[in-house]
Amino acid sequence: MYEPLLEVNHLKKYFPVTKGLLNRTVGQVKAVDDISIRIQPGETFGLVGESGSGKSTVGRTILRLTDKTAGQIKFKGVDIHTLAPVEMRKLRPQMQLIFQDPYSSLNPRVRVGDAIGEALLDHGLCTRSEVRGLVLEALEACGLSTYHIDRFPHEFSGGQRQRIGIARALILNPGLIIADEPVSALDVSIQAQIINLFSKLQQSKGLTYLFISHDLSVVEHLCSRIGVMYLGSMMETASRDELFKHPLHPYTKALLSAVPVPIPKLKRERIVLRGDIPSPANPPSGCKFHTRCPFAEEICRAEIPLFRDAGSEHFVACHLV
Ligand code: SF4
Repeated sequence: MYEPLLEVNHLKKYFPVTKGLLNRTVGQVKAVDDISIRIQPGETFGLVGESGSGKSTVGRTILRLTDKTAGQIKFKGVDIHTLAPVEMRKLRPQMQLIFQDPYSSLNPRVRVGDAIGEALLDHGLCTRSEVRGLVLEALEACGLSTYHIDRFPHEFSGGQRQRIGIARALILNPGLIIADEPVSALDVSIQAQIINLFSKLQQSKGLTYLFISHDLSVVEHLCSRIGVMYLGSMMETASRDELFKHPLHPYTKALLSAVPVPIPKLKRERIVLRGDIPSPANPPSGCKFHTRCPFAEEICRAEIPLFRDAGSEHFVACHLV
């Protein structure tokens, strides 16, 4: 087993809730509450959960776009939250983020070639004369054409814009790419093309991904391991095959029951969850899922379930497993 490329230990990210003229802190939103993740080089780890489960905050905290409240994040063995700003800036090209909506991060007045190449120059990774050649390589690797280099963002479709977002990240030759809902805004047919592109780039360039999605069917084809988050906590982690064949946590089972399957007789019975995800400012006692769990018992309301090893590298937080 190699050293992990990324190691997240007991990460917490709480946002203060303030009130009044003096901005007194009256509570905390526990967006991420004791999350641990290890990602090996060349692996794709899928982080799944409903909107509001804290998955994007995990991604942003790993990239140090926001400070952590507690815990440790190690990239290539280095605790990144202890780095001075100048050291962190040197590390940035190695950890890249791909957004759900790449259009919002593209300046409409800047040609796509310049937008893709600007980070190379900012970080001093090549000379001006080398940029164009590297941008053309990145465009080609992402399935775009050479003539796209001089076009403006509004001239592209949603799928092409996501390819531009991937090219922007790829050109920096990163060790880790965090893709935050990268296909959620796309049509299903385009989603498949972009997922195939992620897969192809991983094989050709040995990339490591943290792939964040609310949809298990999206991560199924790309991820080797999957973590399921609910209300800031990890409910279950397992290899993709293990999670899809033997889901243990009731929340995972509910998410899986909504995944479309090509063969009707393999379809799982649909589990419809009651109500909405509770507020992370006031999470339920005991198991955070107990207000929506069809199997909740008295102990679920009183005690927080431990995140336990259920065998075969399969971990789950549920009293009944
Ligand atoms: Fe449901 Fe109880 Fe398990 Fe939580 S601990 S998932 S409430 S059965």
